[in-house]
Amino acid sequence: MSHIDRYAIPNDAKVLLRAHDDCRFGRIKHHELVRVVQLSTNARKVLTEAIKKCARIIATKPWELNYCVDIIQACTEMLAITTAPDGAFFLLWYQNMPPQHEEFPFLKLPRDIRRMVYDEYLKNNISKADSILVAYPKRGGCQCSGLGAQPDAHLSRINTALAQTCRLLSAEFLEQLYRRYTVHYTCTCDMHQSLRANTVLRENVRRIKVHWNGPESDMAFRLVRRCSRLKILHLVISKATTNHLTRREERMQQYFRPQKPARICDALGMDELLRIRGLDTVFVSNITTRQGFRRSDDERANLHHLLNTQLVTHNIASSDSQ
Ligand SMILES: [Zn+2]
Repeated sequence: MSHIDRYAIPNDAKVLLRAHDDCRFGRIKHHELVRVVQLSTNARKVLTEAIKKCARIIATKPWELNYCVDIIQACTEMLAITTAPDGAFFLLWYQNMPPQHEEFPFLKLPRDIRRMVYDEYLKNNISKADSILVAYPKRGGCQCSGLGAQPDAHLSRINTALAQTCRLLSAEFLEQLYRRYTVHYTCTCDMHQSLRANTVLRENVRRIKVHWNGPESDMAFRLVRRCSRLKILHLVISKATTNHLTRREERMQQYFRPQKPARICDALGMDELLRIRGLDTVFVSNITTRQGFRRSDDERANLHHLLNTQLVTHNIASSDSQ
């Protein structure tokens, strides 16, 4: 396998890969390969390192994909030998592999290895470890001001080309993406449209940041409640949060003089928000003066206290039983 020498893989790994190649092309028997792997004192470490190295190469030099996948596949097969010394698992797995000339075998790799590749890909596509995904462009075509919604300058767009390769790969890659990063919405209509249309997102997102404003806040928070893996919710509030009020408050205003300014507890979506459970943390922050009209610090602090008392200490199952 000439491409073994293309990369700076440790020599120990190269020895194993050459033996694997010999077995593949019938130059040595399978049991001889098993023996070579077993005799190698640190096969597991060496092979895992080689896989990581290839994953990094795929992420930075996509054109090397086929060579790297070939090496990853060989390493994975040999790792299987180290976990099943009689080679039984290896044989079974190997027999299920497609012939060499058939289509790209990436999806035949174990899921853990594929995850490793996605991770490396993401690491190389986003500079910050705890970065934020911003939904572009606004989906709903709503009239929300967008104040406070401008993504910070340092946020980078993610190259999601890998997600467009095929359906399974797309689902797996996006799963990893949504679990890893904070998804940021500029208004609740945007969040509503996005969560409604994207099941993979709903099932995997762990952190959401949203500027609470818009006419669909009630429906949006109802969907947030269904995000089973959501752990962190970051609400940004502003004067625009009370541009839309709960149905109850709207009705009351037909008979009673409206509160000026409107209280945040009368903002549309409050009832649905209070039904969310099972979060680890809720952050509430005021919009910056540069971005929009701020609410009072008292209101921010009170809301923060209320939501952390209500949403964090329970889990979804217990709320469902209520
Ligand atoms: Zn909107």
